[in-house]
Amino acid sequence: MDKILNYINGILTEPIEGKFFHTINPAIGKPYALVSDSDKADVANAVAAASVAFPKWSATPARDRSAILIKIAELIERDLDKLALAESIDQGKPVALAKALDIPRAAANIRFYATAILHESSEAHFTNQEAINYTQHTPVGVVGCISPWNLPLYLFTWKIAPAIAAGCTVVAKPSEITPMTAYLFSKLCIEAGLPAGVLNIVHGVGAKAGQAIIEHAEIKAISFTGGTATGKIIAATAGPMFKKLSLELGGKNPNIIFTDCDFEKAVATSIQSSFSNQGEICLCGSRIFVERPLYEKFVTEFTTRTKALIVGDPLDEKTNLGAIASEAHLTKILSYIELARQEGGTIIQGGNQVKLIGRCAEGYFLEPTIITGLSHTCRTNQEEIFGPVVTIMPFDTEEEVLKYANSTTYGLAATIWTENLTRAHRVAAKVNSGIVWVNCWLFRDLRTPFGGMKQSGIGREGGFEALKFFTDEKNVCIKL
Ligand code: NDP
Repeated sequence: MDKILNYINGILTEPIEGKFFHTINPAIGKPYALVSDSDKADVANAVAAASVAFPKWSATPARDRSAILIKIAELIERDLDKLALAESIDQGKPVALAKALDIPRAAANIRFYATAILHESSEAHFTNQEAINYTQHTPVGVVGCISPWNLPLYLFTWKIAPAIAAGCTVVAKPSEITPMTAYLFSKLCIEAGLPAGVLNIVHGVGAKAGQAIIEHAEIKAISFTGGTATGKIIAATAGPMFKKLSLELGGKNPNIIFTDCDFEKAVATSIQSSFSNQGEICLCGSRIFVERPLYEKFVTEFTTRTKALIVGDPLDEKTNLGAIASEAHLTKILSYIELARQEGGTIIQGGNQVKLIGRCAEGYFLEPTIITGLSHTCRTNQEEIFGPVVTIMPFDTEEEVLKYANSTTYGLAATIWTENLTRAHRVAAKVNSGIVWVNCWLFRDLRTPFGGMKQSGIGREGGFEALKFFTDEKNVCIKL
């Protein structure tokens, strides 16, 4: 069985204790590789390597940092098929999705920050005729980057690229559930000539390797994407240590459909925003609110199209929904479907585990599921399920739907469907979400601020925001 090794000080290495655990291919329900079960000592080695590398890397001219990052992006593009296949096997997502979305986006993340650092500028403030103030941005030092299992390489690179580009050195940990593409990525970094210690990847479980990263005194900033519960642990640990924190957490996103929408676009895109990646995208619109005159028509059409989706082998190009990422996650999603029943909901489509035949007979598959008849306040509509499960609810007025949309502790993303521009602006302004899409979903411009309100997180990724996060600002005041 292949071993997924740590990448520390430029070298692929076994964990000090020599321990490994299995990683499972969720489509077949069987282990297929061994993952380094790293601990505090491995993290300490990674931090030591990053600390040694920091002075030289932070002093390396932006054009040279940029050139290495561009080389890494080119290697990702060269290995697109190989990486997409690895991502699909490790995560369960359709290989076609990994090819079209995950891997191209990983390359785009790196290219974006490789070129952004060539166009940076800093502010200057003239104080009357008496002084000039200018702002210096200096890399903060060694930083920690921790990412989840739903979009493994996509989100891993979304953190690492701005950190390295900004001149920081990094200790990173991918999810224990999906470590493979981060491992393949470490090989590409070696091939591209990234200097030793600039990026260190420590594999292992969150409570051990992850916790060691956030607790380490030399790590000055933490960029984390994952669940809100884990975010709270990280904030509780890193806050009193005065580390900089960027937390991208969970969501329970509203998808608001007004009667005056472009019906065809609203239905087609809602299928995407509900079930892409098995609904395991933090931006998926899991609560669909439909204005009452359109409600029956929408439910009928949405259900018909959901029924037509193919749940199948992720390696089959025709598959729409692949495997759920882990058995534990499948159990969690099924428990929420049961909860919805207990709360009085009607499962109008799906709700059951899917048993495939052949190669995937033991895999973790689930029907795309639609639930109606629930109130916006019930647990099913308040808690993040993070699977191919949506609820649909009718509403009568804008005020009412805004109350529903804003009723959760989350505030990550919202989608609004209307052809009325004035209404679009008005509702967008009143939805408590860090991201609002009008008549589209997951349409991303990497320059825009990305992140959530309320318990969906603190800080923003994307654009120059992320580069700023990895730097300290210093004001220099010169008296004229
Ligand atoms: P988790 O919070 O369970 O894990 C995220 C990462 O944190 C993993 O690498 C995990 O390691 C690690 N981790 C777990 N415990 C600790 C700890 N004590 N200290 C340090 N690191 C730790 O999230 P999931 O992986 O389950 O991802 C799903 C969640 O991520 C959902 O809530 C989803 O909404 C959210 N998400 C948010 C996004 C956003 O941009 N806002 C984007 C994508 C997902 P390990 O896997 O080994 O436990």
